[in-house]
Amino acid sequence: MEIRGHHFLCMLGFRGLGYNEKFVKNMDEIIRKLNNEQDMLIKVVDNVDNICSMCPNNVGEECKIESYLGSVREKDRAILKILGIEVGEVVRYKDVVDKIKENMTEEKMMNICKDCEWFSLGYCLEGIRKLKG
Ligand code: SF4
Repeated sequence: MEIRGHHFLCMLGFRGLGYNEKFVKNMDEIIRKLNNEQDMLIKVVDNVDNICSMCPNNVGEECKIESYLGSVREKDRAILKILGIEVGEVVRYKDVVDKIKENMTEEKMMNICKDCEWFSLGYCLEGIRKLKG
């Protein structure tokens, strides 16, 4: 399983919305799998991952919206830096979740994610609030 940095936060806020039906089904399956098998090893990436695999924005294994400043790749890198995880590292899902709990804050997330089309729904912030208790 490969997961790009910013998707660790998207997964916490996921409420069944997405780019199309195929995308939503795939993302839902991945989240269920990771929640059921928290010891699963994940390769952390900053390019297209298992969630992107069903996305209509994934064109030729490149995200259409990732090649400008503030793009999804920039978000991946900024989030991984806060979590202390290197691109290419292989980690257990539960360790990533622990690092999010320890190191991510609503404020940091707002700074990184504010221009994402999904962020204004408020689900992402609710996701991290729930995780941190
Ligand atoms: S928009 Fe880009 S980063 Fe997001 S799931 Fe689609 S291909 Fe991946």
